[in-house]
Amino acid sequence: MTSERPSTGPSARVRRNRAIAGALAVAVVTAALAGTVWWAAKPTPNDTVAPVASASPSSSPSLAPTPQPEKPKAFFNRSARSIDDPASTWVVNNKLRPLAPIDYAPADLVQANVPGSAPMRAEAAAAMEQMFAAASAEAGLTLVVQNAYRSYATQVSLHDRLVGQLGRERARAQSAMPGYSEHQTGLTADIMAANGACTIQECFATTPEGLWLVENAWRFGYHLRYPQGATDVTGYIFEPWHYRYVGLDLAAELRATGTPTLEEFFGLPPAPDYPPGV
Ligand SMILES: [Zn+2]
Repeated sequence: MTSERPSTGPSARVRRNRAIAGALAVAVVTAALAGTVWWAAKPTPNDTVAPVASASPSSSPSLAPTPQPEKPKAFFNRSARSIDDPASTWVVNNKLRPLAPIDYAPADLVQANVPGSAPMRAEAAAAMEQMFAAASAEAGLTLVVQNAYRSYATQVSLHDRLVGQLGRERARAQSAMPGYSEHQTGLTADIMAANGACTIQECFATTPEGLWLVENAWRFGYHLRYPQGATDVTGYIFEPWHYRYVGLDLAAELRATGTPTLEEFFGLPPAPDYPPGV
């Protein structure tokens, strides 16, 4: 008699197969659940204030990346335009670089067709109109110009009034000296949200409008002139509302190279304060 072990063969195989099938089913369900969770957790354009900055209507409406500038050009001619001429879109004025002449006034001021009072130079005004239209079309945001061109005479009277109220030192800290304000170039605007949230306050940086501008202004030739952490270079506190038109090429180059300030880009000395005697 052959001593066979109890035949466990077929039934054991069945049990094994059932066990494998069960494990597979668990794995499939787990994977499906994980996929659902992953999908639900994906950011959508509606649950973030980050812009959906697709300019092309044919592209996917979801998760469209903010357009990025091309890689820095192998050669960008940093001397292509003057940084001294107040009529140049590349002019750099700061507390060490007053406008020259000090009472410079732009020759081509127009009123930008945007909400708010926006006298600006023609090229900057046209770009501002495009930028505001894009903010509306792409992100449903209404931007308003709070303050754009200020003449030398206006700056003189503003400054004199502040000196009378606050004294010379505090007035100087709060408002640019006449001839030193970038607003006098006609290339600069302080931008606010239509709902007035955080107007001319640092918290504007965290509003949908402030977030959209910091990501997209370069596409229209605008540059955040007084960024965070650059006070020792620019001489101004973080001003997330203050945008300066520099033209498309330079704005894209600043963005592509990650250069925060015009001073650094052009190799100019930091300008934390006015020179003695100003
Ligand atoms: Zn400003």
